[in-house]
Amino acid sequence: MSVRYRDASASDLRPHVLVLGGTGEARALAARLANDGAYRVTTSLAGRLAAPLLPVGDVRSGSFGGPDGLAAYLCTECVVAVIDATHPFAAAISSNARQACDACRIPLAVLERRTWTELPGDHWHRVADGGAAAIAARALGSRIFLTIGRQGLAPFASVTDRWFLIRCIDAPATALPPQHELMLARGPFALDAEITTLRAFAIDVLVTKASGGDATAAKLIAARACGIPVVVIDRPPASDAGTLNHIDDVVAWLTTMLPASHEVFR
Ligand code: NAP
Repeated sequence: MSVRYRDASASDLRPHVLVLGGTGEARALAARLANDGAYRVTTSLAGRLAAPLLPVGDVRSGSFGGPDGLAAYLCTECVVAVIDATHPFAAAISSNARQACDACRIPLAVLERRTWTELPGDHWHRVADGGAAAIAARALGSRIFLTIGRQGLAPFASVTDRWFLIRCIDAPATALPPQHELMLARGPFALDAEITTLRAFAIDVLVTKASGGDATAAKLIAARACGIPVVVIDRPPASDAGTLNHIDDVVAWLTTMLPASHEVFR
């Protein structure tokens, strides 16, 4: 069941662009496009968070029902272009977007934040998935800081002989390791605060996804400063749709793909 937070569709005749969101980049893109004013923009959220940060413009929330459901939405809502600005680990919705856009012959661009790179002084252990991360973290330390969100905690639930600090926005609904403390918090996080957290909880290993971007990068600098190893879960394979790294590139792409509304309706 989807929810519409804001919707001005009835009176808006501009070309309709769908932003698949749930990230800071998607909110920044929606704000930029709203400011430009050339397109009607709807951002789609998965609807997982109790109190999501809402982007500017129209917002709908909730699953589409797979690629077919998304294709039906694109058709019903007369969407003329889709920007996949979801998190790099949100592989299912990105795959759905590619399939639905192919089926509907609607142009798709992917706005993907650049990944992080290991720098001198870092001690990274790159792994393919959460299961490998749990094994690596257990081998590296005894007080483990999990910063992978509340999804994907299952592989850590069976680690009974280590203590965990688990940071996420909303409380996890899945099983957790027996020895843990929950820290409910939403980024961005400042470097000073990250160092304080590492020291206050005597953390000796950090676990992160290779999410990239600025909002949560301070934990990596903090780990470097404190000499703490980091287990980095690699991203799932990237989409083969046109990948753009900057909002300016998306605006330029839209301009080449779609005429602006004043050109359509003058
Ligand atoms: P996912 O595994 O790719 O998606 C699972 C299902 O959730 C999709 O098949 C789709 O359901 C629905 N869905 C996901 N994103 C949606 C969106 N923006 N609008 C409408 N439906 C959506 O995604 P996820 O990893 O669970 O992430 C969910 C959302 O949280 C994403 O929007 C993502 O940008 C954001 N997020 C994810 C992470 C992360 O680490 N994974 C971190 C920060 C933010 P149907 O197939 O039924 O349509």
